[in-house]
Amino acid sequence: MKPEIKNCQNCKKDFTIETEDFNFYEKIGVPAPKFCPDCRLQRRLAWRNDLTFYNRSCDLCGKKIISLYHVEKPLTVYCNKCWWSDKWDPKSYGRDINFSRSFFEQFRELQDKVPLLAIFNDDGVGSVNCEYTQNTTFAKNCYMGAATWFSEDCMYYYFISGPESKDIVDCTDIFTHTQIAYDSIFIEHSYNCRNCYYSTGLTDCNFCYDCKGCSHCFMCVNLRQSKYCIFNKQYTEEEYKKIIKDYQLDTYSGTEKSKKEFFKFLSEQIKRFANIRNCVNCSGDALFDNKNTKNSFFARGCENMYYLWRGNELKDSSDITPGGKSSECYEALTADHDYRTLFAIYSLKSQELSYVENCHSSKHLFGCSAIKHGQYCILNKEYTKEEYFKLRDKLVEHMKKTGEYGEFFPAELSNFGYNETMAQDYFPLSKEEAIRKGFKWWDKIQKTTGRETIKSDRIPDSILDVTESILDEILACIECRRNYKIVRNEFLFYKKHSIPLPRKCFYCRNSARLKLENPMKLWHRRCMCGSAGSPSATTDHEHKGRCEIEFETSYALDRPETIYCESCYNKEVY
Ligand SMILES: [Zn+2]
Ligand SMILES: [Zn+2]
Ligand SMILES: [Zn+2]
Ligand SMILES: [Zn+2]
Ligand SMILES: [Zn+2]
Repeated sequence: MKPEIKNCQNCKKDFTIETEDFNFYEKIGVPAPKFCPDCRLQRRLAWRNDLTFYNRSCDLCGKKIISLYHVEKPLTVYCNKCWWSDKWDPKSYGRDINFSRSFFEQFRELQDKVPLLAIFNDDGVGSVNCEYTQNTTFAKNCYMGAATWFSEDCMYYYFISGPESKDIVDCTDIFTHTQIAYDSIFIEHSYNCRNCYYSTGLTDCNFCYDCKGCSHCFMCVNLRQSKYCIFNKQYTEEEYKKIIKDYQLDTYSGTEKSKKEFFKFLSEQIKRFANIRNCVNCSGDALFDNKNTKNSFFARGCENMYYLWRGNELKDSSDITPGGKSSECYEALTADHDYRTLFAIYSLKSQELSYVENCHSSKHLFGCSAIKHGQYCILNKEYTKEEYFKLRDKLVEHMKKTGEYGEFFPAELSNFGYNETMAQDYFPLSKEEAIRKGFKWWDKIQKTTGRETIKSDRIPDSILDVTESILDEILACIECRRNYKIVRNEFLFYKKHSIPLPRKCFYCRNSARLKLENPMKLWHRRCMCGSAGSPSATTDHEHKGRCEIEFETSYALDRPETIYCESCYNKEVY
């Protein structure tokens, strides 16, 4: 089919469905979406509570647990051990389909009854000591974060993929083989880095952006294979050490001053149109080792992917938020080792599931919740193979008539308030706006203010002057006033690496990092090399006057940065 311009049923803006999108929808047997890509992402994220945690008890064994669900929500919530056990049978909640009613309504009724998994991690099974984490598998000693696999000793993070990722604090989107990292974004194969962004293969670096293969660099942008550089200028080892020392990075004031200088310097440097490494025919940002992957962000080792929001080794899929090692999936939150998972909220090791929540190691399920090792179920009721396919086809036809088939679960059915989910980070709304747009809101987020036992200006400027007594203090975030504490491992990390104590709570720190990342959206633009106001080219470029090359970039049209195509960029940085 030819590309077609459609009007989004939700935001009423036009969006294009490309030929390759149509081919994908046809292959997996779904109608073209009624929502634009942005609205589809927002709707999925409204189901994704990654970092709003609560204390409560397991409704089966009574144990005190960490949960994504506030105790006052009218839901049944089980701890990991109980939820995954044989002590209860999800099929006992099975029910018939009523073809005179909407499917989503009936699914919501099922969800209200079936026990929910308190938090999606495998603590005590595949992971060790990861109780306070969401979306975790095979990790060790991780605390306060979401989305990590095969990682160790990570704290205050969002998306860390192993293997060999260890000792990572206050970071976002760290990919494989990174050890000792602090306050960094999108780095991989790096060691002992602090405030490093969109870089690879760095050792002992501080405040670097888009650098590769560098060691002992400070305040550098667009450098390759360099050592002892500051503001992109070469120094001797002695000079370098002296200058670094003068910045007093063990103090809060020194770090803040460095941050200001760094971001000013960064704003004056040319930028690559996208951070894409070792990819063929890809568009998006923060991509490496991908093929034919379009409109995708923070992805590694993927092929034929569209509209991907973070993922590893995915194939032939679209609208995954996020996923790993899956193929032919569509509109899914955490599709992992899946095949043909469509419209799903957490599904691992499964095939041919549609409209499911937390169903794992299963085959052929439709409209199910909490089924493990199951097959041929609809609304948690099991059928024979023949009955299942007949009934499923009839239900799909019914849902086509009601306009439900081909669309993800509506956000108003979510178990979470909009403000508890990642939708609030990516598409921030006030309570009034959220409610007007049909989202839920939750007023009882678990936090305290005003309980601080130490004022932020009384915290020692240098970490060297902080003693263990800080572990007994309650601090207050200088941005949102939320109370927070310093935990022992965190304290030891700061001490060991001479990092001053944070003055903001984890939530403000995490949101600030997410804001440093470009939006997960593309604009069509032209290379600015040779245009009025751009820095003059230092080596021979092929073009005379302004470069003709156009590209898709996550730098919006009104951004102040000078954006270069890959070829012009490489001529300037190598
Ligand atoms: Zn829209
Ligand atoms: Zn329990
Ligand atoms: Zn805060
Ligand atoms: Zn160019
Ligand atoms: Zn050029």
